[in-house]
Amino acid sequence: MNSKLQTPIDYLKGVGPNRADLLRKELGIHTYQDLINLFPNRYLDKTKYYKINQLQRNSAEVQIVGQITRLREVAQKRGKRLVATFQDDTGNMELVWFRGQKWIRENLKLNTTYVIFGKTNWFNNSFSMPHPEMELKITHEKSLSSAMQAIYPSTEKLANKGISNRVITKIMQQLFLETKGKFSETLSNNILKEQNLLSKSEALFNVHFPKNPEILSKAQFRLKFEELFYIQLQLILKNLIHKSKIKGHPFAQVGNYFNSFFKEHLPFQLTNAQKRVIKEIRHDLGSNAQMNRLLQGDVGSGKTIVALMSMFIALDNGFQACLMAPTEILSVQHYNGLLEYCKKLNINIKLLTGSTKTSIRKEIHENLENGQLQILIGTHALLEDKVKFKNLGLAIIDEQHRFGVAQRSKLWKKNVAPPHILVMTATPIPRTLAMSVYGDLDISIIDELPAGRKPIKTVHRYDNNRLKVFRFIRDEISKGRQVYVVYPLIQESSKMDYKDLMDGYASIEREFPKPDYQISIVHGKMKPTDKDYEMQRFVNGETQIMVATTVIEVGVNVPNASVMIIESAERFGLSQLHQLRGRVGRGAEQSYCILMTSHKLSNDSKTRLETMTRTNDGFEIAEVDLKLRGPGDIMGTQQSGVLNLKIANIVKDKDVLQQARFYAKKVLQQDPSLGHPENQVILDTYRAMSKYKNLWNYIS
Ligand code: ADP
Ligand code: MG
Repeated sequence: MNSKLQTPIDYLKGVGPNRADLLRKELGIHTYQDLINLFPNRYLDKTKYYKINQLQRNSAEVQIVGQITRLREVAQKRGKRLVATFQDDTGNMELVWFRGQKWIRENLKLNTTYVIFGKTNWFNNSFSMPHPEMELKITHEKSLSSAMQAIYPSTEKLANKGISNRVITKIMQQLFLETKGKFSETLSNNILKEQNLLSKSEALFNVHFPKNPEILSKAQFRLKFEELFYIQLQLILKNLIHKSKIKGHPFAQVGNYFNSFFKEHLPFQLTNAQKRVIKEIRHDLGSNAQMNRLLQGDVGSGKTIVALMSMFIALDNGFQACLMAPTEILSVQHYNGLLEYCKKLNINIKLLTGSTKTSIRKEIHENLENGQLQILIGTHALLEDKVKFKNLGLAIIDEQHRFGVAQRSKLWKKNVAPPHILVMTATPIPRTLAMSVYGDLDISIIDELPAGRKPIKTVHRYDNNRLKVFRFIRDEISKGRQVYVVYPLIQESSKMDYKDLMDGYASIEREFPKPDYQISIVHGKMKPTDKDYEMQRFVNGETQIMVATTVIEVGVNVPNASVMIIESAERFGLSQLHQLRGRVGRGAEQSYCILMTSHKLSNDSKTRLETMTRTNDGFEIAEVDLKLRGPGDIMGTQQSGVLNLKIANIVKDKDVLQQARFYAKKVLQQDPSLGHPENQVILDTYRAMSKYKNLWNYIS
């Protein structure tokens, strides 16, 4: 790394102590290096000239050559404005000034060729440009301004203290002068050649002073690639180190439990995706390293059976296993589902949640420690200090997004040697984001639904169509189906939401009276035992309608339920809508999802509804979600550092990310210790980054 780049910014000519202070406080610029990495937000493209008849409404700044043929004052509510008619060989438009009119009037030359630059408005059927930048054509030809002009990030305070974009550009020029524009290369020759990248010096120069859009995009690509490359390198290295350092329990064999389940008790044919994923997990478990795997699979893709079979492998090797779920309902359901199979195989399995009775709890604790208890299912209760395993070999976490990283590591500490960890999530994360957020985990994907599933039909209905919707519900129930009606209870404490839920429940009760209809209700304010009771009635088919809040969002499995009504659907996020919809479509019957909304819809709501009605593909939905919300709201990104990127954008630069990851992998595969002379520069850069910056402090 260029040592000069660590020079404090105060030493740059033209900066001085006051400006240095502001730069530090407002933009976090401490050194030359920080300044060089202050990348423009955007550029004014002064390489192109537009004709007046080429102007588009809503276009960015444009540059036009022409003459002023007329100048006049127009009275307006307060004061007056100065209006010029500007003309080229294709038409004319207006230039408008609200301030500084005297100077303009005295200095403007009529019928002389100017180059003007600015943003245009469409007004009264013609284009106008307020306060254009103007330069006489003769002067323009001599000046250097006929290029792309960088616009840097700024703050109000900087602007107020006179550190304008022009000043920052000047300072930047000065930096290039002092360093002669020479910066140490940070990527290896191989990569530069293979990817046909600009050198570091060329890239930095052209990102700050590009001559044209083509060279700018080459410069940007090179810098984005580099930024993402080093993040990927870090993540992959972490994964490799993890695998070599942390020994797992090698589960050498697949034994009786696994085999007899597979041969005699498997309730259905596994999908190819399930088979593939089980193979991946088996391979991890059999190796010497500790497994740290993320299993992504859309709702209903059949992750539970994969979890179960993985636990059998642990048991076959004399170890215990546990499965942790985020809610009581879900744990109970997992427990009930798995209990059936475990009974057949004579496996000792227990459920532990917040509402487990003390006496049973004590028994569980004992049997865990003496090893009699083989599988433990439960909620956060599993994380309590009192829960001690004799030899936990595999810990599975369902619906990862409800648990934090800290909790993952807590499970980890439940053993002398860490158990293998399998994290299952039904919230598909776009692949590119997963690479950055979970780049240190291995990822398995179930990308196939069990055969025979009919795609869920999704429609959007306005509230005033409710009667029709009720009729539809009645029809479905008469066919023997069950129905969910979900209300938003965004905050469990919100009185308004709670009232909506209760009003809704009352109106459904009126519409579907006893004894023909039975209705369950489940919400967060109920006691766990009451919730279970209501839920169980629905599971058993004693009730036909389940009125609920999003507590049923994750995991609940009632294959006979074929209709999901989501009230105030505009208030839900995309991933939540998708999760809720996933509660139906689990049986052989055609299922439906009806999104009820008012007529008042924001643009984002419209996009969400349109996306839901268009596709059932969780990954596609996740991509839209990422675009709408940005990466900041997606779980895991906060810790991952993808938000601190200086030039790359995790949403927009997918292709660059993919290439960067490819090369990071390739380099480490060929040279895991980065010891080859060819990779010296990568090692040096990597080390310097961790030394000078806290770039890597997000690594947990
Ligand atoms: P999720 O991935 O959402 O956790 P589940 O594991 O709950 O999905 O599975 C959803 C439903 O599909 C369950 O009723 C399960 O028994 C069933 N299922 C899982 N795998 C298959 C398969 N290969 N063929 C048929 N049904 C399956
Ligand atoms: Mg599940």
